[in-house]
Amino acid sequence: MTLTCRHQDRVSIKRAFLGFRQSQCKTCDAIVEEPFSNGVATFYWIVVALSGAITVYMFTQGTLAVPGVLALGAGAALIKNRAVENRSKEEARRP
Ligand SMILES: [Zn+2]
Repeated sequence: MTLTCRHQDRVSIKRAFLGFRQSQCKTCDAIVEEPFSNGVATFYWIVVALSGAITVYMFTQGTLAVPGVLALGAGAALIKNRAVENRSKEEARRP
């Protein structure tokens, strides 16, 4: 199983952890990890923003809030998505 492929003709096979999608190339059968859709990315940004706002609010109330597990998961998903997007761009640029 390879994670790199430069063909464009792919079929979506499944939704992976944290909303990432995996697709399979029709030409070489490679399994390729795709960045998630804009809708999912927006959802994660909202989760991060809300958690941030709650943390700031709690702080002003004199309570030191620890960002929720949800926010950490969303943040991790966004960071990973950035990495997957960059990898896709690099693959597209490769001769
Ligand atoms: Zn391929």
